[in-house]
Amino acid sequence: MAFRASATVIDLLVAESRYEEAFARLNPLLDQLPTMKESDVRMQGLGVAAQLNNEAGQYDVSVRYADQIIKESTDAQGACRGWFYKSDALFQSGDTQLAADQLHDGTEACGKAGDTLFSLSFQHLLASFDLRQGRPESAIRVLQASYPKVQQAGFPPQLSQFESTLATAYWESGDLVSAAKFANDALATNANRQYSESTANAYQVLYEVDKKMGNSNGALAYLEKYSAAHDGYQSRLSAKALAYQIVKQQVLAKKLQIEGLDKKNRILTLQGELDRKAAEASRLYIALLLLVLASIVLWTYRIKRSQLRFMRLARRDGLTGIFNRQHFVTEAERQLRYCRKSARDICLVLIDLDHFKLVNDTHGHAVGDRVLKRAVDACQAHLRSTDVFGRLGGEEFGLLLPECTRDNVLVRVEQMRAAIAAVSSTRDAPDIPVSASFGVAAAVDSGYALRQLMIDADRALYQAKHEGRNRVRLFDANMRS
Ligand code: GH3
Ligand code: MG
Ligand code: MG
Repeated sequence: MAFRASATVIDLLVAESRYEEAFARLNPLLDQLPTMKESDVRMQGLGVAAQLNNEAGQYDVSVRYADQIIKESTDAQGACRGWFYKSDALFQSGDTQLAADQLHDGTEACGKAGDTLFSLSFQHLLASFDLRQGRPESAIRVLQASYPKVQQAGFPPQLSQFESTLATAYWESGDLVSAAKFANDALATNANRQYSESTANAYQVLYEVDKKMGNSNGALAYLEKYSAAHDGYQSRLSAKALAYQIVKQQVLAKKLQIEGLDKKNRILTLQGELDRKAAEASRLYIALLLLVLASIVLWTYRIKRSQLRFMRLARRDGLTGIFNRQHFVTEAERQLRYCRKSARDICLVLIDLDHFKLVNDTHGHAVGDRVLKRAVDACQAHLRSTDVFGRLGGEEFGLLLPECTRDNVLVRVEQMRAAIAAVSSTRDAPDIPVSASFGVAAAVDSGYALRQLMIDADRALYQAKHEGRNRVRLFDANMRS
């Protein structure tokens, strides 16, 4: 109903020459068309589209809608209407003749349709094509055949069209009397439609007739009227075309605006997506960076730890855990240099376990190892943090005691001797005789050179062994000889 009402409103707007509004309403109507299923509703919509486009000079568009009408028509009346629109559009576009098959199909459809408005108008179109091709007699025949029916139908615009075309046809065939008669009929029929094509046509014929008959006054008067009618008709035509273009531009502008917004929207969506991806990527980079950093830290830590372990292993004796000979020498020399600078007391002690070969031979090497460790532990209990203790090889040990005078060195070493001697009564070495001999050299006697201190301490140690072992001997100058 709404669709039909809309189509009717458009018809009325055209009738009132309100073309801009008519075209503005046509587009929404055509948008709705695909949803319309009822045949006669569709016919009405397509008809309005075909007619309005024809009036706006959009003949190819009009032909398209007309073809659609022919295709969808369910009866001869519908088909005839389509053929009329199509032929009219072709005529207006300047075609000189209808193609034979079109002529045939249109004539057949309109013949079957009976004497409807469109079938009569189709006859008028056929006559117009005849005239255009210079066959006024044929045009007169066609028009005269339908003229009584047109009069009977009584639709003034159509009647005046027939009459004005008849006037032209008679003029062209040389029948001036009939030409003038039909021209006047057309004007009478069209009394209140001054600016139609048929009015202009009728004045033109009357002007030509008067001119031919030498009635120059009458000719001039008709020429003026023709000119006015023609101008009025032409300006109506331009108004239609202009209205069509205005609405078309408006629709286009709207479409462009919508497309612009759509694009903007798409850009914003893409931008959002991009930002999200960028944030995701940077989070990923940070995570990756942290991971790499963590692995580097872990890796460095492991390297450092194994380096330290390696260094420790390289400096320590595997069995007892105290310094090995090389590191003992390094550390001892460092301490000696330090003490020499400030002339501090420092003593070197060499320790050698007594009859250790016998321990091995009697109890086995494993027990020997255990006893070695016990002896070292016993000594360590009496050491200060600055003392340097190392295994020089086999069952021989070196001990450097900084800040230790010749008087108190003997007291401290004596404590160690007693501690080692006590190992034999421990759970680790029950009934195994363990003791050690000690040779002591003081820097005040031997100087701060490690080599000399070693030689002198070794002499003292030899003395201790010689005197029966398990004892401490301090180097003195007599031992050198
Ligand atoms: P002395 O009282 O004269 O020093 O007699 P000794 O048997 O201790 O002297 P010697 O130098 O003849 O023997 C040292 C022995 O120490 C020889 C070897 O079997 C033993 N020994 C050296 N290093 C180790 C070791 O790492 N483990 C064990 N179980 N025995 C060792
Ligand atoms: Mg030895
Ligand atoms: Mg020994």
